[in-house]
Parts: sequence; structure tokens; C-alpha cells
Amino acid sequence: MSQSMQAGFPIREQVTSFIEGRYTRLAGHELPVVFPGDARRISTLVEAPADEVDAAVRSARAAFEDGRWRRQPVEARQAVMRKVADLVDQHRDELAYLECMNSGIPMRHLQKGQIPRTAYNFRFFAEFLGQHAEKLHGQTDGYLTLVLREPVGVAALIGPWNAPLALTSMKIAGAIAFGNSCVCKPSEVTPLAVARFMELLVEAGVPPGVVNLVNGRGGVTGEALVAHPQVDLVSFTGGTQTARRISASAGEGLKPLSLELGGKSANIVFESADLDRAVDAALVGIFSNNGQQCLAGSRILVQRTVLERFVEAFAQRARKLRIGSPLDPATEIGPLAFQAHRQRVAGYVDIARADGAQLLCGGAPVEALEPGFYFQPTAVLARDNTARVCREEIFGPFATIVPFDTQDEAYAIANDSEFGLVSYVWSDHQPTVMRALSEIRAGMVWINTPMTRDLRAPFGGIKASGYGREGGESSMKFYTFEKTVMLPTVPPSIPRMGI
Ligand code: NAD
Repeated sequence: MSQSMQAGFPIREQVTSFIEGRYTRLAGHELPVVFPGDARRISTLVEAPADEVDAAVRSARAAFEDGRWRRQPVEARQAVMRKVADLVDQHRDELAYLECMNSGIPMRHLQKGQIPRTAYNFRFFAEFLGQHAEKLHGQTDGYLTLVLREPVGVAALIGPWNAPLALTSMKIAGAIAFGNSCVCKPSEVTPLAVARFMELLVEAGVPPGVVNLVNGRGGVTGEALVAHPQVDLVSFTGGTQTARRISASAGEGLKPLSLELGGKSANIVFESADLDRAVDAALVGIFSNNGQQCLAGSRILVQRTVLERFVEAFAQRARKLRIGSPLDPATEIGPLAFQAHRQRVAGYVDIARADGAQLLCGGAPVEALEPGFYFQPTAVLARDNTARVCREEIFGPFATIVPFDTQDEAYAIANDSEFGLVSYVWSDHQPTVMRALSEIRAGMVWINTPMTRDLRAPFGGIKASGYGREGGESSMKFYTFEKTVMLPTVPPSIPRMGI
């Protein structure tokens, strides 16, 4: 397939499916792949219709059934997974570039964060595979009761556009480590880096067919994938509305489901906090990754006694954030991922005003950088938690600050949300911290630290932020099923019937 050269790294002119170790059809429904930095079309996605999804699933099923991967010795699988990680390291700049060009995430964040994380996902699960032990119960007289873990089969792995490769690679590593095959469906907005990664998987020695890729819109390619009768389980990261549709379809097929969804997470700043550090972290919490993160601390709850100081410092720093091309190493905030998304984010400025919120900074597109999809880092001060900007996930560089007076009020506001993904707490007063741990209803709580993730620990939310957990042992539990084996230590006596 022909390729065009952009800044030293090739970008495929067409991104198709990748099945059985090869890119597939060249014709079909086309979608533009756009560089959000200047709205330029840089590639074309050729959508996989249902028959191609079927081919991808059948290929993964055949790979699973003939055991070309799952029957390999653990050491062999570990070696291949480590090789994948090495290849990601070697291609770090290229993968970062591809991701940057269709997501608008700043290059330097990709080079230091998401792409090394992709390599780490594979190293981590390779090591995990070498450590995990099966279970044995010896209490039943005359028996050893073994509890074995076996791969579930073919996994559908569906991802969003805000961290395409880092998230998809975590799912792939977890799925194949334990012997599953999979079919990935990245967001139609950001197919480039995941597609290139497929080639690296094959180069590293993952047998063709074990990991297949289909590209296309959710309503076409994604729905066909989830509904496919030969898909055994579904791991989904994306929005809550989509998750409702996926869970209806997966429920019909009784397929296990892991749902990592959106959030409107509280970042609680108490008067007992180190305010400088809390401001630093609040900025990172809402503006990193161009504000497009599920983990964003997008509702910043600030105790009224320190509100004025916090707001002044936060808004002043937000105004100084360096907005620019995501390819520029100095850039702190790049463009939003696509035009319609920017319009949606911008719409929340009027929504905030209508609810009586005060605009503290930003609130408009960056005219000097048109036609790129840039939006000024924005913060509003809400009157209370009933404002729509406190209740709905905006998924952009848009912070909502909400005042509170007492601890009770802080927890009531934090928990008064449809979502329950994560939460952040800032206080140097230990009793306050300890109380926060038990009061906050969310899948994860960070104390006096911005987001860091430990892949050994479960990650996921509650309520509209989803259910199911991935990471370490949780991934193992999700991507395997338990098979119990009763093994007699001496021949057991068998009642003789029918004599
Ligand atoms: P989205 O729900 O629109 O799409 C996610 C994926 O689902 C895409 O690949 C899309 O094509 C596919 N899809 C859409 N409809 C489908 C259907 N009917 N059947 C099958 N697949 C379908 O989400 P998005 O806009 O791409 O991503 C943003 C959302 O993802 C935000 O809500 C964000 O919070 C969430 N997110 C959550 C996490 C987490 O770990 N909890 C991480 C990143 C992003």
C-alpha cells in the first residue's frame, strides 16, 4: 500500500482492517483521518462492514482453537511479549508521531507517557504470567481439588480516542498473556498508531490471527463485533451511552463484559492542604492530555476559606499554559481531537453561564490557531453542584470549581454524581485524609498526588463509570475462567448401581 511521508515517518494513505497478519480490503466506506492541529486530512479509514468483522473473528477463533499461541510454553509467550515491548521502545518516536497526528495529544506527553506505557503493558503481563500460581485445595479427603485458569476464547477489545494505543495495548497484553485471541476495534477517529502496532506484534512473533484489527464506526463495525456469536467476551473503554448499547448486545449473548467509562471526578482541596501542590496537581488533573481524560479531576471542590487564593492561582496559571501544535515539544495543550468535539466543549461555556456560573478564564476557541481544533484552557466557578457543568462529563480542558464549607458537605458533593470513577483528596491533616478514604464512593482515590496508576492494582469505576476491573490479577480473572478438577489421590470407592 502506498504511503505518504510526514515529518520523517510514513503515514498509511489508507487504514484498513488487519486480519491474519495482513492489511485487508482497499475499497469500502471511507472516513477521513484528520490532523486536529490544522484540520488537514492525513489518511483515510476504510470501514470494516459486518462480513469483514466476521472474517476477523473467524481468524481469531481459528487461532484460538488450533492453539498456535495458547499452547505455546509460558516462557515462549513471555519472550514474544517482551519482544513486543522492545519493538515499541525502538519505534517510540514513530508511534508517538502517529498517535499525535490523529489525536492531537502533545508529542512530548506521548513520548514520555503513553508510548512507554504501551511497552510496559507488555512487559508487565509477561512477568505476571511467569508469577501467577494455580489454586489447590487439599481438604477433601482422598482428593486434590485443582482450580485451573483457562483462557476464555476470543475477546473483543473496543477503545476510545483519548489514549488509543496505551489503552488498547493494555487490553491486548492482558488478553493474550493468558492465551486468548482477540479482535480490536479502536476509535474511528484515531486508527493510525494501533494499526502500526499490529505490524509490530507480528514482527515480534505473535502468530497471525491471534490479534486482529477491524476499523470503523461504532454503529457498524463495533456493533457487528460485539454481536458476533463467536466473540466470547467484551472489554470496552468509552462513553456511558455507548456502554448501555454494548451491554444490551453483550447481555443478549451472555458475554462477560468489562466497562471502563467516563467520570466527573471530584478533586477535593481542604484548607489543610499544601495549596501550591494542590494547584499544581489540579492543573495537571484537568488540563493534561488536552483535558481529554476519563481520570480528569474535572470537579474541583475547594473549601471556602482557601477558595479565593486557589481560584486566583489556578486561573492565572491556566492562562499561561502553552497552547500550540502537538508536534512542538514546548506545547502543554494541543487541539481537541475533532471539530464536533470542540463544538461540544465550547457549548458548555453558555451552559455554565445559564446555570449562573462565573467564567474565570478561557472559554473560547484559539483564533490564532484556526483551522486547528484548539480551545482555551477554561475554568468556571459554579454556584453549586446542581449546575450541568458539575453533572456532565465535558471531556475537554474545562474545569468546574465548586466551593464547600464543611467536610460533610465536601463528601456529599463528591458523591452526588451519576459517576464514580476516581477522586483526589488534598489535605495534610491525617484524620481528614483517613475520613476521606471511607467517605468517597469511587473506584479509586488519590491522596495528595496527581494520577498515577499501578498496573498490579484493579482499575475501574462504579455507577455510570462502569463495572468490571482490569489490571494485574483483575485482568487475569476477566480474561480467564476457572476450571475445577477433582483429582483422586487413591481410587475412590464407587457405589455400584444396577447390580
Ligand atoms: P465512545 O463511547 O463514543 O466510543 C468508544 C468506542 O466505542 C469507539 O471505538 C467507538 O467506535 C465504539 N462504539 C461506539 N458505538 C458502539 C456500538 N454501538 N457498539 C460497539 N462499539 C461502539 O467514546 P469516545 O468518545 O471514543 O471516548 C471518550 C469516552 O471514553 C469518555 O466518556 C471517557 O471518559 C471514556 N474513557 C474511559 C476510560 C476509563 O478507563 N474509564 C479511559 C478513557 C476514556
